[in-house]
This record gives sequence, C-alpha cells and structure tokens, in this order.
Amino acid sequence: MITKGKTFIISGPSGVGKSTVLHALLEGRDNLYFSVSATTRTPRPNEVDGVHYHFIDVHHFQELIGKDEFLEYAEYVGNFYGTPKKYVDDAMESGKDVILDIEIQGAVQVCSKRPETVRIFIAPPSWKELERRLTARGTDTPEKIQERLIRAKVECQTANSYDYFVINDTVEEAVAELNAILCAEHCRPSERISQILNRE
Ligand code: ADP
Ligand code: 5GP
Repeated sequence: MITKGKTFIISGPSGVGKSTVLHALLEGRDNLYFSVSATTRTPRPNEVDGVHYHFIDVHHFQELIGKDEFLEYAEYVGNFYGTPKKYVDDAMESGKDVILDIEIQGAVQVCSKRPETVRIFIAPPSWKELERRLTARGTDTPEKIQERLIRAKVECQTANSYDYFVINDTVEEAVAELNAILCAEHCRPSERISQILNRE
C-alpha cells in the first residue's frame, strides 16, 4: 500500500531566497514534487514556462477559477497566482511529498481546506539583506522593491501561525533545516502507527 505524501507550504517574502533554497532541496530528493503555479506575472529573463510557472493571461486565469481548478489563488503585488489542484493531488496519491511556494493568503486557504498541511516560513537574516537580494536579483524596479519590502514586513508579523520558521542566512543551513523538518514530519505517530499496523 502506498502511503500518501504530505503537503508542505513554503512562504516568505519575495527575494528571501525561496526558489534558490527549494532548488537545492529538490536536487537532493526524488520523492518531492514542486507544485508549478499559474501566474499572470510577466516571466523574468531566466524563467521557463511550465518549469518556474505556467505563465497565463488574466482571462485564462479567471477561466480556471470558474472551473474550480485551483486549490487556492491570490493576488500579490498586482498579479494573480494560483496552485493547480490536479497535479498536487496526483503527486500525493503517488506517495510524493508536495512543496507549495505560496504567499500567506494562499496558505490560509489551503490550511482551511486541508488542516494537516505543514507550513514553513522562510525569513531573511535582516531587512537590509532582503533589500540587497531583491536589488541584486535585478528583476524588479526600485518602486516594486519598496512595495515588496513593505509587504515582507507585514507577512513576517503573521508568521506566528506557521509550524516552522527558517532563517535563510546561508543556503546550506536553510536546506539542512528544511530536510530536518521533512524528516521530523514523517516521524509523527499519526503516520508511523498506520504504517506499522499495515505490516504483517
Ligand atoms: P524568492 O524565490 O524568495 O523570491 P530567490 O530565490 O529568487 O528568492 O532569491 C533572491 C536573490 O537572493 C537571488 O539573487 C539569490 O541568488 C539570492 N539568495 C538566495 N538565498 C541566498 C543566501 N542564502 N545568501 C545570499 N544570497 C541569496
Ligand atoms: P514572485 O513574483 O516573486 O515569483 O512571487 C511572488 C509571491 O507569490 C511569492 O510570495 C510566492 O510565494 C507567491 N506565489 C507563487 N505562486 C503562488 C501560488 O500559486 N499561490 C499563491 N497564493 N502565491 C503564490
């Protein structure tokens, strides 16, 4: 019998390093599925359609909302983002853990539908460093960066409702903490006991 995978939400300010850390985490694990979101945002120069996001227009996005194809969706700094439900469910059914890189409004929606979801917040070591990372990424205008910084502080204040809080000082340490969290979550009695009881 296949044990169903778990869903992990990763939230944190834009530019904190979520993509960087998740890329490194995914490299070391083949039982982990990264949920590719749909967005109405314009692709950044290094972003590939279907890999980083499904880049779609607002009309298509609204069509998908109408067909109830999103597990959750939200508006973030002027663009829409949503998690396609089917891929998440297929991956979980096949026994894979699923990672959702989504902001806090989306996290609230997922947890109200699926309270067993594990929420991890990734924070920057300082606000100065967050501004430096956003600037170094070179993908946002100074105005968008200031907008994202204001949003980041608001988000950090709500992080108390999350299950774990990881500070992305170095990528290596952040990945090590995420691996430890994933490991610990699979040691919960709720999961282990049913596995043992199903054995001969
Ligand atoms: P997010 O996905 O959270 O928006 P990115 O992964 O795009 O953030 O990272 C934003 C920038 O910060 C990138 O230029 C990335 O190389 C850099 N970065 C990420 N993690 C670290 C780290 N631990 N130390 C220094 N720079 C980092
Ligand atoms: P970015 O534009 O920097 O790629 O992402 C902006 C924010 O949108 C990030 O906080 C990211 O976690 C969030 N995000 C990405 N995909 C989704 C999604 O499918 N749903 C929600 N609610 N947020 C998302």
